[in-house]
Amino acid sequence: MGVCVVLETPTPPCVVPGGVFDDFAWCHSDRLEWRRPRDTWDGATRLDGADPARMAFVLRRASELVPTELARVHAFGLGLGEERALAPWAIDDATDAFHRARVRPGELLWLAADNLNALFWGLHDWAHFHNHGPFDERAWTELQCDATALAWLTLNRERVPVTREDLDRLAREVKELTRSRFAAEGAEVPDTARRALEAASAGRMLPPGSG
Ligand SMILES: [Zn+2]
Repeated sequence: MGVCVVLETPTPPCVVPGGVFDDFAWCHSDRLEWRRPRDTWDGATRLDGADPARMAFVLRRASELVPTELARVHAFGLGLGEERALAPWAIDDATDAFHRARVRPGELLWLAADNLNALFWGLHDWAHFHNHGPFDERAWTELQCDATALAWLTLNRERVPVTREDLDRLAREVKELTRSRFAAEGAEVPDTARRALEAASAGRMLPPGSG
């Protein structure tokens, strides 16, 4: 049930200082299967740092690799029954587990999301799953995943019900989130970070020809 869209998620360049990730792009992230209900889409949700509502990474098969919960508790309108989903609190655990076990995230997971905030965070987490790091430098780690998510959304904008205005608003909200993360570490947003976000939303981050 629902609409199934295959999103192109080509491996991005690393836009953060060396050492932020210890195994960047250990696994290529070529595509992500995304489903949403046929008649429900909310492009007006605001982005904040809170856990996204109505988003789940649903498991294709039973697996002990990651903690799971019932998928239908988090994703609606897709006719889900007993399918399991990655527990929303276990994104970091999953990032470590995929890397340790060398399991391709796309082999195990598809994404359910029925609003723009949920889709953005789904793509952000998709970036985490393919780029392993110690998470010591939080602002930089998140910046890489935010820029990647923005770049993927921009790349797939014909496949997603999203307007240029939605994307521009999202980019502004990501900038604000970035500012607050660096501020929490007692720093201003570095110029390279600012430029990375601008390149991502302008479609200049990913290699030419991707998608
Ligand atoms: Zn993150």
